[in-house]
Amino acid sequence: MENKSKIVVLGGGESGTGAAILAKKKGFKVFLSDNKKINPKYSSVLKHFDIEFEEGAHSLNRILQADEVIKSPGIPDSIPLIKKIKEKGIPVISEIEFAKRYTKAKTICITGSNGKTTTTLLIHHILKNAGLNIGVAGNIGKSFAWQVATSNYDTYVLEISSFQLDGMFDFKADIAILLNITPDHLDRYDNDFEKYTESKLRILQNQTKNEAFIWCFDDPVLNKVLANRNIAAQQYPFSIHESEIENGAHLVNNELEIINNKTKLTMTLEQLALQGKHNIYNSMAAGVAAKLMDIRNGTIKQCLSDFTNIPHRLEYVSSVHGITFINDSKATNVNATWYALENMEKPVVWIAGGIDKGNDYTDIKALVKQKVKAIVCLGTNNSRLHELFANDVDIIIDTISAKGAVEAAYSLAEKDEIVLLSPACASFDLFENYEDRGDQFKEALKRL
Ligand code: ADP
Repeated sequence: MENKSKIVVLGGGESGTGAAILAKKKGFKVFLSDNKKINPKYSSVLKHFDIEFEEGAHSLNRILQADEVIKSPGIPDSIPLIKKIKEKGIPVISEIEFAKRYTKAKTICITGSNGKTTTTLLIHHILKNAGLNIGVAGNIGKSFAWQVATSNYDTYVLEISSFQLDGMFDFKADIAILLNITPDHLDRYDNDFEKYTESKLRILQNQTKNEAFIWCFDDPVLNKVLANRNIAAQQYPFSIHESEIENGAHLVNNELEIINNKTKLTMTLEQLALQGKHNIYNSMAAGVAAKLMDIRNGTIKQCLSDFTNIPHRLEYVSSVHGITFINDSKATNVNATWYALENMEKPVVWIAGGIDKGNDYTDIKALVKQKVKAIVCLGTNNSRLHELFANDVDIIIDTISAKGAVEAAYSLAEKDEIVLLSPACASFDLFENYEDRGDQFKEALKRL
């Protein structure tokens, strides 16, 4: 059926290209606009699907003729272009919202400040091994819209950021998971933590008693905001500290217990593939979701114990002369670094810094004082780290390359100590992204 409505897609990356393909397939008149150069791997696909696009500029008049705009999550709402579109009353939605209109697949949606990718992949691992016809999307691999356009999955596990949630209105998650809420990306929320929190809570929108909501009972922010809210969905809290949980997950005598309707799965913490307190939470969330999908206990246990995480998340790299090197480059906010430091059981030389998104280091000060013997700053401006930790750590030095940081850390660490790259900051001052930072760290290690 020919659809004459005009869709404008803003942003020619993974999600934008996916949205454009889906819109084209559904018969819309599609125009994609990106004010930067589009990566050839996407422009060639746009040409293949005969989708009109521009790069290096936005043609305002043409964009303002749209019936609906699909905006990439990387574009802030505050820029003049988006303001003009909204002033004209044109709806602005995200690629996930758009794609959901065209699939009946069940969606398991994971959001939170940290742990999204790990938990998403863990759930995917379990459901795939259980033999489900399952796709994984969101910030991982092919975009949701792209897969809806070109594949035919029965279920999707979706990693969903707050930026995507901001463009979601009618979307309803069959199973929603909210892992935690700690400060991050506040620059996009007028430095207002409440706005960021509200954005994360959109994962609950449109849910009824027929849907499920899995959330971390130990998270102080979540516990507070959810207490004052009517939640229609069935709730499945998970907790390390609270023993009274009827449906959800908790610890009993230091064993992990996942419960749904009185059926239980029990496993020891040592059996979990992913170690560290934060990963107990991630495993709990994934286990509950799998149980809600009626996966057998044996399969869930097997998969929670043989999962391999992707790199840059508390990744053991190597040991050189008795010094252990750990790459946690994906720790781009303070809370992720808190869990990394909390997990360290030997003295730490901590490589930190980069672009500080307005970090509040109060929560990790005690851990730093207790565990860190030296800080190697890796960033163009390290003044805040110097100011804040001068009284807690004797040695704080500056470096401006991964090679410099690794060499400095190596000279400061001794046998049976740990060098931990867990920057608590974004990487864009010195690196292309967190992967580049972690890869350069690993490369420098090889050359020691
Ligand atoms: P996201 O996709 O939300 O960024 P990742 O799974 O990629 O999350 O992990 C990002 C960082 O957060 C890593 O440093 C990781 O060790 C840490 N982390 C993972 N899970 C959690 C959690 N539940 N709470 C706090 N930090 C976590």
